Amino acid sequence: MRRTLAREIAKSGTALHAGAVVDMRLLPAEPGTGIVFRRRDIGGREIPALYDRVAETRLGTVIAEGDATAGVIEHLMAAIAGAQIDDLIVSLDGPEPPILDGDAFSYFRLIEEAGLRERPGSRKAIKVVRPVEVAIGDAQIRLLPSHGSEYHFDLDYSNTKAIGKQSYTMTFTRENFAREIAPARTFGFVHELDALNKMGLARGASLANTIAIDGDTVMNKDMMRFADEFVRHKILDAIGDMALAGGPLVARFEGMKSGHAANNAVLRALFADSSNYQLMEI
Ligand SMILES: [Zn+2]
Repeated sequence: MRRTLAREIAKSGTALHAGAVVDMRLLPAEPGTGIVFRRRDIGGREIPALYDRVAETRLGTVIAEGDATAGVIEHLMAAIAGAQIDDLIVSLDGPEPPILDGDAFSYFRLIEEAGLRERPGSRKAIKVVRPVEVAIGDAQIRLLPSHGSEYHFDLDYSNTKAIGKQSYTMTFTRENFAREIAPARTFGFVHELDALNKMGLARGASLANTIAIDGDTVMNKDMMRFADEFVRHKILDAIGDMALAGGPLVARFEGMKSGHAANNAVLRALFADSSNYQLMEI
């Protein structure tokens, strides 16, 4: 059986980079559709949420089909993966989903409220059978064969006492995702904000949706949900980016100081050689 939403969800909010208010509709979809973004502000152009459509990874994952794009999709994709949804249309009237709380739980909660519906159809997992590694600068990722789906991350921001070094390991289940990972918020550095704004980025960032780090201190510390929220958010991002594999990934993900660029590179490396993986009927 494949899963989609039981009913449509509508939610508006500020886009993280564009700063504009975007109206998002999550629509039930036919079995076999996969996850597809639809830009209804530019004639309903559709962009499949797949690793080979990733066009930009600097500050969020952007997918593109021709000149139609959808950006900052990773938190929503993580919520979709956490809820184990196979088929869904994400209809937007702007370039990004609303950032909401800067986490994945804001989306996950909406999906839980709407409920899921099962439909007949084949559902295939991607089982990693040979280790796949990428390194970009000092960022590294390994995908290792594993019986289940696991995530491990080592983060090192030794240049600020607000973060320092953090490590986290989780077994990817719906329950663990909802409790340990989905609530972890995105974070950003105050000293970078001006430059980002001038580049047209982070215009919607605020203390309501981003943990803001100024030197060695967190400006909105009372908003933090976990002492190690930063590394948990890095796992959230990794889950969202791995959801672009096009099906559940059966592997152990190990990330070290990595981000969206390495996440995309490891999926491209995985699928570049068909002896790296097997498709498994679930
Ligand atoms: Zn993120």
